[in-house]
Amino acid sequence: MKSSAVLSSLARRLEGKVAIITGGASGIGESTARLFARHGAKVVVADIQDENGQEVCREIVGDGGVASYVHCDVSSEADVQATVETALRSHGRLDIMFNNAGTIVEYRPLLDIDRSDFEKVFSVNVIGVFLGVKHAGRAMASAGRGSIINTASGASVMAAMTVSPYTASKHAVVGLTRDAAVELGRCGVRVNCVSPHLLASPLACRALGMDTRAMEDAVEKSSVLSAAALKAQDIAEAVLYLASDESRYVNGHNLVVDGGYTTTNPSLG
Ligand code: NAD
Repeated sequence: MKSSAVLSSLARRLEGKVAIITGGASGIGESTARLFARHGAKVVVADIQDENGQEVCREIVGDGGVASYVHCDVSSEADVQATVETALRSHGRLDIMFNNAGTIVEYRPLLDIDRSDFEKVFSVNVIGVFLGVKHAGRAMASAGRGSIINTASGASVMAAMTVSPYTASKHAVVGLTRDAAVELGRCGVRVNCVSPHLLASPLACRALGMDTRAMEDAVEKSSVLSAAALKAQDIAEAVLYLASDESRYVNGHNLVVDGGYTTTNPSLG
Protein backbone atom coordinates (compact mmCIF):
# COMPACT_ATOMS: atom_id res chain seq x y z
CA MET A 1 0.00 0.00 0.00
CA LYS A 2 1.34 3.48 -0.88
CA SER A 3 2.13 5.73 2.10
CA SER A 4 -0.60 8.20 1.05
CA ALA A 5 -3.16 5.34 1.08
CA VAL A 6 -1.97 4.27 4.56
CA LEU A 7 -2.35 7.83 5.79
CA SER A 8 -5.83 8.22 4.39
CA SER A 9 -6.99 4.87 5.84
CA LEU A 10 -5.65 5.95 9.24
CA ALA A 11 -7.40 9.29 8.86
CA ARG A 12 -10.79 7.58 8.50
CA ARG A 13 -10.46 4.52 10.67
CA LEU A 14 -14.14 3.50 10.60
CA GLU A 15 -14.89 4.04 6.91
CA GLY A 16 -17.95 2.02 5.84
CA LYS A 17 -18.79 0.85 9.36
CA VAL A 18 -22.10 1.28 11.18
CA ALA A 19 -22.13 2.13 14.89
CA ILE A 20 -24.82 2.40 17.56
CA ILE A 21 -23.95 4.65 20.50
CA THR A 22 -26.21 4.50 23.55
CA GLY A 23 -26.18 7.59 25.74
CA GLY A 24 -25.04 9.44 22.61
CA ALA A 25 -26.96 12.64 23.39
CA SER A 26 -24.46 13.92 25.97
CA GLY A 27 -20.95 13.67 27.42
CA ILE A 28 -18.78 10.69 26.43
CA GLY A 29 -21.39 9.25 24.04
CA GLU A 30 -21.86 12.55 22.22
CA SER A 31 -18.10 13.04 21.85
CA THR A 32 -17.74 9.49 20.54
CA ALA A 33 -20.59 9.95 18.04
CA ARG A 34 -18.89 13.04 16.62
CA LEU A 35 -15.47 11.34 16.47
CA PHE A 36 -16.84 8.14 14.88
CA ALA A 37 -18.64 10.19 12.22
CA ARG A 38 -15.42 12.09 11.43
CA HIS A 39 -13.77 8.69 10.93
CA GLY A 40 -16.36 7.67 8.35
CA ALA A 41 -18.81 5.63 10.47
CA LYS A 42 -22.55 5.86 9.97
CA VAL A 43 -23.74 6.63 13.46
CA VAL A 44 -27.01 5.76 15.19
CA VAL A 45 -27.39 7.81 18.38
CA ALA A 46 -29.66 6.09 20.93
CA ASP A 47 -30.81 7.91 24.04
CA ILE A 48 -33.80 9.06 26.08
CA GLN A 49 -32.95 12.77 25.74
CA ASP A 50 -34.63 13.14 22.36
CA GLU A 51 -34.02 16.84 21.72
CA ASN A 52 -30.32 16.67 22.60
CA GLY A 53 -29.86 13.49 20.58
CA GLN A 54 -31.57 14.95 17.51
CA GLU A 55 -29.47 18.11 17.78
CA VAL A 56 -26.22 16.10 17.99
CA CYS A 57 -27.24 14.21 14.82
CA ARG A 58 -28.20 17.45 12.99
CA GLU A 59 -24.77 18.89 13.78
CA ILE A 60 -22.96 15.73 12.64
CA VAL A 61 -24.91 15.77 9.36
CA GLY A 62 -24.19 19.51 9.01
CA ASP A 63 -20.48 18.65 9.25
CA GLY A 64 -20.84 16.14 6.39
CA GLY A 65 -21.28 12.99 8.50
CA VAL A 66 -24.05 10.37 8.57
CA ALA A 67 -26.09 10.19 11.78
CA SER A 68 -29.63 9.42 12.87
CA TYR A 69 -31.38 9.44 16.21
CA VAL A 70 -33.42 6.67 17.83
CA HIS A 71 -35.29 6.96 21.12
CA CYS A 72 -34.04 4.04 23.19
CA ASP A 73 -34.33 3.37 26.89
CA VAL A 74 -31.57 0.80 27.33
CA SER A 75 -33.37 -0.84 30.24
CA SER A 76 -36.17 -1.85 27.82
CA GLU A 77 -35.45 -4.98 25.79
CA ALA A 78 -38.00 -3.93 23.15
CA ASP A 79 -36.24 -0.57 22.69
CA VAL A 80 -32.77 -2.09 22.42
CA GLN A 81 -33.94 -4.75 19.97
CA ALA A 82 -35.74 -2.11 17.87
CA THR A 83 -32.61 0.08 17.82
CA VAL A 84 -30.48 -2.78 16.48
CA GLU A 85 -33.17 -3.57 13.88
CA THR A 86 -33.32 0.09 12.84
CA ALA A 87 -29.56 0.21 12.28
CA LEU A 88 -29.68 -3.01 10.23
CA ARG A 89 -32.68 -1.82 8.20
CA SER A 90 -31.19 1.63 7.52
CA HIS A 91 -27.62 0.61 6.78
CA GLY A 92 -27.65 -3.15 6.11
CA ARG A 93 -25.03 -3.97 8.75
CA LEU A 94 -23.87 -3.36 12.30
CA ASP A 95 -20.17 -3.24 13.11
CA ILE A 96 -19.87 -1.37 16.41
CA MET A 97 -22.06 -1.27 19.52
CA PHE A 98 -21.02 1.25 22.17
CA ASN A 99 -23.06 0.41 25.29
CA ASN A 100 -22.34 3.67 27.05
CA ALA A 101 -25.62 4.92 28.60
CA GLY A 102 -25.32 5.07 32.35
CA THR A 103 -26.96 6.45 35.43
CA ILE A 104 -26.13 7.14 39.06
CA VAL A 105 -27.86 8.17 42.26
CA GLU A 106 -26.73 11.00 44.49
CA TYR A 107 -24.01 10.20 46.99
CA ARG A 108 -25.30 8.56 50.18
CA PRO A 109 -23.58 6.31 52.71
CA LEU A 110 -24.08 2.60 52.03
CA LEU A 111 -26.22 2.16 55.15
CA ASP A 112 -28.73 4.72 53.84
CA ILE A 113 -29.02 3.22 50.36
CA ASP A 114 -32.38 1.68 49.42
CA ARG A 115 -33.00 -1.45 47.42
CA SER A 116 -34.70 0.74 44.80
CA ASP A 117 -31.42 2.68 44.30
CA PHE A 118 -29.70 -0.57 43.36
CA GLU A 119 -32.55 -1.57 41.05
CA LYS A 120 -32.55 1.81 39.31
CA VAL A 121 -28.79 1.84 38.69
CA PHE A 122 -28.54 -1.84 37.75
CA SER A 123 -31.46 -1.62 35.29
CA VAL A 124 -29.51 0.87 33.17
CA ASN A 125 -25.82 0.18 33.90
CA VAL A 126 -25.96 -3.62 33.93
CA ILE A 127 -29.21 -4.81 32.32
CA GLY A 128 -28.88 -2.05 29.68
CA VAL A 129 -25.37 -3.25 28.80
CA PHE A 130 -26.49 -6.89 28.79
CA LEU A 131 -29.34 -6.10 26.37
CA GLY A 132 -26.99 -4.20 24.07
CA VAL A 133 -24.48 -7.06 24.10
CA LYS A 134 -27.26 -9.60 23.47
CA HIS A 135 -29.04 -7.93 20.55
CA ALA A 136 -26.01 -6.40 18.84
CA GLY A 137 -24.14 -9.64 19.56
CA ARG A 138 -26.78 -11.72 17.74
CA ALA A 139 -26.58 -9.53 14.64
CA MET A 140 -22.78 -9.43 14.72
CA ALA A 141 -22.35 -13.16 15.41
CA SER A 142 -24.42 -14.04 12.37
CA ALA A 143 -22.23 -11.69 10.29
CA GLY A 144 -19.07 -13.14 11.88
CA ARG A 145 -17.62 -9.76 12.85
CA GLY A 146 -18.10 -6.79 15.15
CA SER A 147 -16.78 -4.83 18.09
CA ILE A 148 -18.79 -4.19 21.25
CA ILE A 149 -17.51 -1.65 23.77
CA ASN A 150 -19.13 -1.20 27.18
CA THR A 151 -18.57 1.81 29.40
CA ALA A 152 -17.45 0.78 32.88
CA SER A 153 -15.62 3.28 35.13
CA GLY A 154 -12.63 3.83 37.39
CA ALA A 155 -15.22 2.56 39.88
CA SER A 156 -14.87 -0.87 38.20
CA VAL A 157 -11.39 -1.40 39.62
CA MET A 158 -11.55 0.34 42.99
CA ALA A 159 -13.97 1.82 45.49
CA ALA A 160 -15.01 5.28 44.39
CA MET A 161 -16.22 8.57 45.79
CA THR A 162 -19.53 7.73 44.24
CA VAL A 163 -22.16 5.39 45.62
CA SER A 164 -22.18 1.66 46.19
CA PRO A 165 -24.85 0.75 43.58
CA TYR A 166 -22.79 2.54 40.94
CA THR A 167 -19.49 0.91 41.97
CA ALA A 168 -21.15 -2.53 42.07
CA SER A 169 -22.77 -1.95 38.67
CA LYS A 170 -19.48 -0.99 37.04
CA HIS A 171 -17.68 -4.04 38.49
CA ALA A 172 -20.54 -6.09 36.97
CA VAL A 173 -19.97 -4.50 33.56
CA VAL A 174 -16.38 -5.79 33.59
CA GLY A 175 -17.52 -9.32 34.49
CA LEU A 176 -20.19 -9.30 31.78
CA THR A 177 -17.65 -7.99 29.27
CA ARG A 178 -15.22 -10.82 30.03
CA ASP A 179 -17.86 -13.54 29.69
CA ALA A 180 -19.21 -12.03 26.48
CA ALA A 181 -15.68 -11.69 25.08
CA VAL A 182 -15.10 -15.43 25.45
CA GLU A 183 -18.51 -16.50 24.11
CA LEU A 184 -18.75 -14.04 21.23
CA GLY A 185 -15.04 -14.13 20.42
CA ARG A 186 -15.63 -17.57 18.96
CA CYS A 187 -18.06 -15.94 16.51
CA GLY A 188 -15.61 -13.20 15.46
CA VAL A 189 -17.07 -10.54 17.75
CA ARG A 190 -14.79 -8.71 20.20
CA VAL A 191 -16.13 -7.32 23.48
CA ASN A 192 -14.14 -4.84 25.57
CA CYS A 193 -14.84 -2.09 28.04
CA VAL A 194 -13.49 1.36 28.70
CA SER A 195 -13.13 2.77 32.20
CA PRO A 196 -13.03 6.55 32.42
CA HIS A 197 -11.82 8.38 35.48
CA LEU A 198 -13.86 11.34 36.71
CA LEU A 199 -14.70 13.96 34.08
CA ALA A 200 -17.10 16.90 34.08
CA SER A 201 -20.36 15.60 32.59
CA PRO A 202 -23.99 16.06 33.70
CA LEU A 203 -23.91 12.55 35.26
CA ALA A 204 -20.84 13.30 37.38
CA CYS A 205 -22.15 16.76 38.40
CA ARG A 206 -25.44 15.19 39.49
CA ALA A 207 -23.73 12.47 41.51
CA LEU A 208 -21.45 14.82 43.39
CA GLY A 209 -23.90 17.75 43.60
CA MET A 210 -21.52 20.16 41.82
CA ASP A 211 -21.99 22.60 38.96
CA THR A 212 -19.83 22.17 35.85
CA ARG A 213 -17.24 24.73 36.95
CA ALA A 214 -16.72 23.16 40.39
CA MET A 215 -16.60 19.76 38.74
CA GLU A 216 -13.91 20.86 36.28
CA ASP A 217 -11.82 22.12 39.23
CA ALA A 218 -12.30 18.82 41.08
CA VAL A 219 -11.34 16.85 37.97
CA GLU A 220 -8.20 18.93 37.48
CA LYS A 221 -7.19 18.52 41.14
CA SER A 222 -7.59 14.73 40.95
CA SER A 223 -5.43 14.47 37.83
CA VAL A 224 -2.10 12.66 38.18
CA LEU A 225 -0.91 13.92 34.82
CA SER A 226 0.28 17.49 34.89
CA ALA A 227 -0.81 18.08 31.29
CA ALA A 228 -4.55 18.57 31.65
CA ALA A 229 -7.83 17.35 33.06
CA LEU A 230 -9.60 14.34 31.53
CA LYS A 231 -12.14 15.24 28.83
CA ALA A 232 -14.89 13.23 27.11
CA GLN A 233 -12.79 13.43 23.91
CA ASP A 234 -10.03 11.40 25.61
CA ILE A 235 -12.49 8.57 26.24
CA ALA A 236 -13.83 8.82 22.68
CA GLU A 237 -10.27 8.34 21.34
CA ALA A 238 -9.87 5.16 23.43
CA VAL A 239 -13.24 3.87 22.22
CA LEU A 240 -12.23 4.61 18.63
CA TYR A 241 -9.21 2.34 19.09
CA LEU A 242 -11.36 -0.49 20.48
CA ALA A 243 -13.90 -0.02 17.67
CA SER A 244 -11.31 0.02 14.88
CA ASP A 245 -9.56 -2.90 13.21
CA GLU A 246 -6.29 -1.73 14.81
CA SER A 247 -7.43 -3.46 18.03
CA ARG A 248 -8.35 -6.68 16.16
CA TYR A 249 -6.63 -8.91 18.76
CA VAL A 250 -7.82 -7.02 21.86
CA ASN A 251 -10.71 -8.88 23.48
CA GLY A 252 -12.09 -8.98 27.04
CA HIS A 253 -9.96 -6.00 28.04
CA ASN A 254 -10.84 -3.21 30.47
CA LEU A 255 -9.09 -0.12 29.09
CA VAL A 256 -8.70 2.25 32.04
CA VAL A 257 -8.33 5.87 30.94
CA ASP A 258 -7.40 7.75 34.08
CA GLY A 259 -3.97 9.31 33.56
CA GLY A 260 -2.55 6.82 36.08
CA TYR A 261 -4.99 7.61 38.91
CA THR A 262 -5.84 4.01 39.83
CA THR A 263 -2.17 2.97 39.82
CA THR A 264 -1.20 5.65 42.32
CA ASN A 265 -0.21 4.55 45.83
CA PRO A 266 -1.87 7.18 48.06
CA SER A 267 0.56 6.46 50.93
CA LEU A 268 3.39 7.78 48.76
CA GLY A 269 1.54 11.09 48.56
P1 NAD B 1 -23.81 12.11 30.62
O1 NAD B 1 -24.83 12.41 31.65
O2 NAD B 1 -23.21 13.23 29.86
O3 NAD B 1 -24.36 11.05 29.56
C1 NAD B 1 -25.12 9.93 29.91
C2 NAD B 1 -26.14 9.71 28.80
O4 NAD B 1 -26.84 8.48 29.06
C3 NAD B 1 -27.20 10.83 28.76
O5 NAD B 1 -27.34 11.31 27.44
C4 NAD B 1 -28.47 10.14 29.24
O6 NAD B 1 -29.65 10.66 28.69
C5 NAD B 1 -28.21 8.71 28.77
N1 NAD B 1 -29.05 7.76 29.49
C6 NAD B 1 -29.27 7.66 30.83
N2 NAD B 1 -30.14 6.68 31.09
C7 NAD B 1 -30.48 6.13 29.90
C8 NAD B 1 -31.34 5.08 29.50
N3 NAD B 1 -32.06 4.40 30.40
N4 NAD B 1 -31.42 4.77 28.19
C9 NAD B 1 -30.72 5.46 27.27
N5 NAD B 1 -29.89 6.48 27.57
C10 NAD B 1 -29.79 6.81 28.87
O7 NAD B 1 -22.67 11.29 31.39
P2 NAD B 1 -21.30 10.63 30.89
O8 NAD B 1 -20.31 10.96 31.93
O9 NAD B 1 -21.00 10.93 29.48
O10 NAD B 1 -21.68 9.10 31.07
C11 NAD B 1 -21.50 8.14 30.06
C12 NAD B 1 -21.01 6.85 30.68
O11 NAD B 1 -19.73 7.07 31.28
C13 NAD B 1 -21.88 6.29 31.79
O12 NAD B 1 -21.99 4.89 31.66
C14 NAD B 1 -21.12 6.64 33.05
O13 NAD B 1 -21.40 5.78 34.12
C15 NAD B 1 -19.69 6.50 32.57
N6 NAD B 1 -18.67 7.18 33.36
C16 NAD B 1 -18.67 8.52 33.53
C17 NAD B 1 -17.67 9.12 34.31
C18 NAD B 1 -17.64 10.61 34.56
O14 NAD B 1 -16.91 11.04 35.46
N7 NAD B 1 -18.36 11.42 33.81
C19 NAD B 1 -16.66 8.35 34.87
C20 NAD B 1 -16.69 6.97 34.68
C21 NAD B 1 -17.70 6.40 33.91
